[in-house]
Amino acid sequence: MKHGLTGWVQNTNENVRVRVTGKADDISGFLVSLETEAPPAAMIENIRTKEVEPEKFPFFQILKSHDVSDDVTEISPDIAVCHECMEDIEKEGNRLNYAFVNCTNCGPRFTIIRDLPYDRAKTTMKDFPMCPECLEEYENISDRRFHAQPTACARCGPRYELFEKGEKVSDKMDVITGHVSQCISNGGNLLVKGLGGMHLACDAFNYAAVENLRAVKKRDGKPFAVMFRDLETLKLYAGVNEAEEQSLLSWRRPIVLLEMKSNDDLPPVSKCINAGLNLLGVMLPYMPIHHLLFSRLKTAAIVLTSGNFSNEPILIGNREALDRFSSCTDAVLLHNRDIQNRTDDSVVRVMDGKERIMRRSRGYAPAPVRTNMNMEGILAFGAELTNCFCIGKGKKAFLSQHIGDLQGFETTLFYEQTLAQFLKLFRVNPTLLAADLHPDYISTKTAKNFGNLPLVSVQHHHAHIAACMTEHHLDEKVIGVALDGTGLGDDGHTWGSEFLLCDLGQYTRMTHFDYVPMPGGDLAAGEPWRMAVSFLYKVYGNGFTTLKLDFLKNLEAEKTSLIIRMIDRGINCPLTCGAGRMFDAVSSLLGLCHIATFQAEGPMRLEAQVQKSCLDSYPFSIGKTICFDATIRGIVDDLIRNSDIKIIASKFHNTIVSAIFEAVNAIRAREGINKVVLSGGVFQNKYMLEGTISLLKRHDFEVYAHAAIPTNDGGIALGQLAVASKRRENKCV
Ligand code: ZN
Ligand code: ZN
Ligand code: FE
Repeated sequence: MKHGLTGWVQNTNENVRVRVTGKADDISGFLVSLETEAPPAAMIENIRTKEVEPEKFPFFQILKSHDVSDDVTEISPDIAVCHECMEDIEKEGNRLNYAFVNCTNCGPRFTIIRDLPYDRAKTTMKDFPMCPECLEEYENISDRRFHAQPTACARCGPRYELFEKGEKVSDKMDVITGHVSQCISNGGNLLVKGLGGMHLACDAFNYAAVENLRAVKKRDGKPFAVMFRDLETLKLYAGVNEAEEQSLLSWRRPIVLLEMKSNDDLPPVSKCINAGLNLLGVMLPYMPIHHLLFSRLKTAAIVLTSGNFSNEPILIGNREALDRFSSCTDAVLLHNRDIQNRTDDSVVRVMDGKERIMRRSRGYAPAPVRTNMNMEGILAFGAELTNCFCIGKGKKAFLSQHIGDLQGFETTLFYEQTLAQFLKLFRVNPTLLAADLHPDYISTKTAKNFGNLPLVSVQHHHAHIAACMTEHHLDEKVIGVALDGTGLGDDGHTWGSEFLLCDLGQYTRMTHFDYVPMPGGDLAAGEPWRMAVSFLYKVYGNGFTTLKLDFLKNLEAEKTSLIIRMIDRGINCPLTCGAGRMFDAVSSLLGLCHIATFQAEGPMRLEAQVQKSCLDSYPFSIGKTICFDATIRGIVDDLIRNSDIKIIASKFHNTIVSAIFEAVNAIRAREGINKVVLSGGVFQNKYMLEGTISLLKRHDFEVYAHAAIPTNDGGIALGQLAVASKRRENKCV
């Protein structure tokens, strides 16, 4: 012990206890070190000290974990490789160029854990008995690898193997990196097995290679993530502020959404990566294999996107990888350690100076969300799209890793398996279930078939607000503003612009945007032009067809009249007030996106046009509901006048921000409540979030928005859990 103290340390399910004997100065030095020298992934909530009768100890020792068996519950997320391990890779010895180095400060965790307590025998490292040298380090209390469960070296640990056309090429790292470098330089692509699943990779600067990759994935236009060689290189291509740099370099190593710079001296990152948008999902190497590959790659950045076919979860099995990807990729790079828990790369965006999680998976899950409520035994099934589920244990909520859209068979299977795995891992026996109000969601159906347990149905937007409240430990009446695409309302219509007066148990819907028909139902969500027609028809009636709009010139008259007939007769035209649908409509009117090739493409293209310098907005009116007819008229007039699209987009955003403020202000005036909670997918839009927060704060509102929990439907399950808990507490279930 550096401070010359004797005593012991012990892990319990509640906390870590340390008992030390020594000189007063040494003890205070030790207390400082506890905080300043904690490993990067350690989270110290607080340190409490107590003076006790001095006791003589012969040395300092680690006592066996005091597991009150069923209560050992926390699992660390996976941790990016640390600097010291990277140094080990460059040294001679058993770890030279070895792709699976790790230590107590870094390496795989959740992705390899089969059961608790966390112990090598209960991980997928079980198949790799330690060699004498690794064992010695593992048992040496002063070694960096003391009790590092996945510790390994080239002699005893897992290995990579490269396959081409289904045939094994080599398991020697220098041969592998040579082949991969050649493959990428030649514009090829490959499948690489990582921590939580497979990735597909190619040169990010090679247009043809990226297009090929898209074809391999059979993927729509959804942007790919890019891994840059290092931060310095990345900074040449993207603007990086301090908070963004922190996220990029954190041990969690998420994908960070960044604005790309236009730099004439450098080749542009291939436009087809992110559908020509300015926003790019970027990450830095986080596994030793990434560093090893980059040491030979000539390119500054590679596309690194989840290895799967569209609508399927990220692939984890070696057999399947070879069977399905040998013929459609140039190479397949696999390792022989099983992936127990599938995790995608996480996605964050820094907004209003804070990291906001948009997809919570590797590096974040399954760390618990700490609450002040009794969550015990509650299982919340989540939403339909961007699903995560959540289980309650004591006061903790364990939100699952990102599962995905519960639409295909494979994803549904992943959902069911992960549910079972979480209940087993965290030893939860559900006694109460919570699900969305929508009866047709696969998550709701799964809840209904789960067993004969009481089920709490939670309205989608109430769940959104409850999720944000739980994140901020709010348990009181607040004004909730939930803006998103869709969610079933309790009047049977499709909601999505909800101003709620609510607490965790109950809500009253105070106001919302006007309803408009959604021609074609769900189809309208993928085809913004339908919403544009619907809004025009609402505002101008039949006369809209004579407006001098480019939008109408490009539209087949037949299609338009079909939509009008559908609306008039109410055929497959559910009513929606989803804010997302309005962003879609405006995006289409401005010619930015008529048919979406990925989720939220219309709103993203619209946001990309916004200019911060524009402060103008359009008129709107607030009665019983919020009416944007005047806004649509203003946009149409501007379009006819040939105004700059950027200005129109900015004015539209400003209008929605003002409308939020006016509506919230009216509720405060009547109810005397000052806390505003923002949630829903619309707040993934940086301009919307920052604009709304700043306007509300200027008028002395206390504003709460998501940071650690996704504001999109990935956060819904936490809200469902909280609502169920509160209703149980109030004896309403
Ligand atoms: Zn390490
Ligand atoms: Zn070894
Ligand atoms: Fe939602």
